[in-house]
Amino acid sequence: MTTETTETTGTAELLGELRAWLGDNWDPDLTVAEWWERLGLAGWAAPGLPTNAYGKAMARSDVVLVQQEIGALGALGPPAGLGLLLAAPTIAAHGTQEQIDHYVRDIVTGQKAWCQLFSEPQAGSDLAGLQTRAVRDGDEWIVNGQKVWTSGGQYADLGMLLARTDPEVPKHQGISYFAFEMLQEGVDVRPLKEMTGHALFNEVFITDARVADSALIGGVNNGWAAANTTLMNERAGLGSGGGSAAGGGLAQPGTVMGFLGKRVGDVVAPAAAGGAAKKSDEKSDRKTQQPGGALSALRGGAAMLIGLARSRGVNTDAGVRQDLARLYTLGELGRFNGLRVKAVKEQGGDIPGMPNVAKLSMSQIVRLTRDLGLRIAGPAGMLHAYDSDDKAALKHATGDPFAGSITEMALFAQAPPIYGGTDQVQRNIIGERVLGLPKEPSNDRVTPFSQLPKNA
Ligand SMILES: Cc1cc2nc3c(=O)[nH]c(=O)nc-3n(C[C@H](O)[C@H](O)[C@H](O)COP(=O)(O)OP(=O)(O)OC[C@H]3O[C@@H](n4cnc5c(N)ncnc54)[C@H](O)[C@@H]3O)c2cc1C
Repeated sequence: MTTETTETTGTAELLGELRAWLGDNWDPDLTVAEWWERLGLAGWAAPGLPTNAYGKAMARSDVVLVQQEIGALGALGPPAGLGLLLAAPTIAAHGTQEQIDHYVRDIVTGQKAWCQLFSEPQAGSDLAGLQTRAVRDGDEWIVNGQKVWTSGGQYADLGMLLARTDPEVPKHQGISYFAFEMLQEGVDVRPLKEMTGHALFNEVFITDARVADSALIGGVNNGWAAANTTLMNERAGLGSGGGSAAGGGLAQPGTVMGFLGKRVGDVVAPAAAGGAAKKSDEKSDRKTQQPGGALSALRGGAAMLIGLARSRGVNTDAGVRQDLARLYTLGELGRFNGLRVKAVKEQGGDIPGMPNVAKLSMSQIVRLTRDLGLRIAGPAGMLHAYDSDDKAALKHATGDPFAGSITEMALFAQAPPIYGGTDQVQRNIIGERVLGLPKEPSNDRVTPFSQLPKNA
């Protein structure tokens, strides 16, 4: 069993071009900011973006290969996070060229980190029911409201803010989408601690904060269309494993985390540092990449668990083997679906609902990875390490450097089937928009938002 991916002819040429570019440009003595500027402006940080938005208009399946290749060749990957995954493609699709040159440039070069200010205490699955208000004040808007589950809000320079700009029209029609400065008075970010021990997401309280009219993406009251672009990118990106921290590095974008001035060779995964990219003719060995945190462990898929099963001596267990084969098959199905989308898009078509199918499939993979990981880990899977001292103690007690990551992955596994829209919501969308089933009965498409019943 292998997880190697097959390269089509066009893809092989593209990866050849990338290897040559890395050979000429990767230099571990640059700062992180200098490296990301080279990578981003050359179109390799976000090659899926259009060519007028610092991209190469590449298919998503190829973007994942590019990210893997950058890491495998020893260079720092693109600036990970929601800026690259969500804000950049949304601004590229709905923003003006001026906005693209301003915001997307700062994203692909890692200068600014973004968060997603969509969900509210009363508006998750029913996102269009959001109540955060933005009221015009000359060339600016004044914003008041509360967001929740804001991943990375404590490290973000900017947020993709959805706010209600007209409550007197039906709910989907009175929402606007802003590029919102997080580092200003009136924005209070409060981290929420998860059972993993980390604080990935936050509550964000917004009180009389300001946002310029020039930061409106897609026009007044047209935010729902832009929000859908963000959500489709989130679902497709999560489903394909793209847009992540691929590239084997530890650096995070933006002004808050403090990585931009560091020497880039010091923040690549140690085994890769030192310019392995200079040996650009070497065949990459993706199988040797090791998982880092919970998310990368979940994305490590069958290869990571096969290694673990071998090291634990349970690779001969028939049940474990069967589930490993199932996990591998789900991964391959995802890859083939990515290739199908690429082929159809190259003919000018599309496959409706694929981002939703991809996200549902990712949920299945995550759950199976959690259950299989814990089964392989055995009793050690009940132990969790909350800090570096705990991790060292756990490693010492079990003799297994992966013991902590398996439980962390299992504890985190509840999250991916929720964020970006729950499994139930994906099924509703597929039912209504792809299969043509009737919508749930509701009058909220015609009733002004101000007249709809609300919980709070
Ligand atoms: C780890 C994590 C990170 C997140 N990061 C962000 C972020 O950065 N930014 C952001 O804006 N949001 C973020 N979210 C929020 C996420 O998008 C919401 O949690 C999600 O959309 C569900 O909304 P909710 O939590 O309000 O649940 P609800 O909408 O209250 O749903 C509760 C339950 O009811 C079900 N349900 C609801 N409506 C229907 C329906 N019509 N048909 C069938 N079932 C239904 C749901 O499937 C769910 O099981 C994050 C969430 C998590 C878990």
